[in-house]
Amino acid sequence: MAEATSRLKIDIEFAKKEIQKANAKRVLIQIPEGLKDRITSMISELKEKCKDVEFFCAIDPLYGACDLAEKEAGQIDADLVLHFGHSQIIESKKTVYVPVTYEISKKEIEKSVEKIIEYLQKNKISNITIGGTIQYMPYLQKIRQLLEKENIKVNVGKTGLLKDGQILGCNINSLLFDSKTQLLVLFSDGQFHAKFAALVSKKKVIQVDLINAKIEEIKPDEKLVKKRIAAIMQAEKAESFGILICTKEGQFNIEKAIEIKKMVESKGKKAYLFTGDLLLPEYFLGINVDCFVSTACPRIVLDEFGKWKKPILNIEEVMIALGVKKLEEYSLI
Ligand code: SF4
Repeated sequence: MAEATSRLKIDIEFAKKEIQKANAKRVLIQIPEGLKDRITSMISELKEKCKDVEFFCAIDPLYGACDLAEKEAGQIDADLVLHFGHSQIIESKKTVYVPVTYEISKKEIEKSVEKIIEYLQKNKISNITIGGTIQYMPYLQKIRQLLEKENIKVNVGKTGLLKDGQILGCNINSLLFDSKTQLLVLFSDGQFHAKFAALVSKKKVIQVDLINAKIEEIKPDEKLVKKRIAAIMQAEKAESFGILICTKEGQFNIEKAIEIKKMVESKGKKAYLFTGDLLLPEYFLGINVDCFVSTACPRIVLDEFGKWKKPILNIEEVMIALGVKKLEEYSLI
């Protein structure tokens, strides 16, 4: 992973042009954890090019493209926010997304494609969907061309503001549009996205490490669905619900939270609203309710429910627990 991070190319030239375009004098930088060790050298490099600009770095954890620091930018009177490592998913006033992509050679790409072809031949697969995280997007079309030369049907989907084939931790829609596809081929770091894709799509999934030309078959975590259904059943007996609203701009969903509150109350039960930027389980230890409902990032419920002392459900799950939706309609996102 450390080797992979060192291969990430940060487009400083793009950042510089955006600063000049905005005629910015104060710039707030948002950067993911894995790149924080490069922040001082990045600021020095930017400072050389933009001498009269004051740079600030937002130190709070940056979890995704949904996490904008525009409130903070207002407090420090910044003219521009440079958000590194993600791509735009929501409209923003001051934020510009600076591309951070892997540097991968043509030879390395060809080596991985050879491995994919070998895998497809061995498993008699001729129709696939490819996709991945933003850092791998520059290589997707090249990979597609190489695979199509071998008479493989290669699908690349598109969702909203995302790039062709791009997926997020909460959005793999670009992989799901062709029901005939036999395999999802994902270019991503670790198994975070791939496991999620395997579970949601119910398709065969392989994760490809383009830097080391390694392929891994990904098995879905079947136990997760069972655990989620167990949480729904516990919530059916709950008399009081804590409804969580995340104040991060891309996760803020107050309308849904109010709707859920009314739904709970219409069943003669109690509901309380909680707001916060970071919704960590330890903040809720003393809260006297029977269960929680998150209207924020779906991964809070899917990945972290084990850390909560009481059941925590997402929107769809609480609707099932309240009898507003049928269990047969349940999907993880
Ligand atoms: S909502 Fe969650 S998974 Fe989606 S982009 Fe934000 S942090 Fe990532």
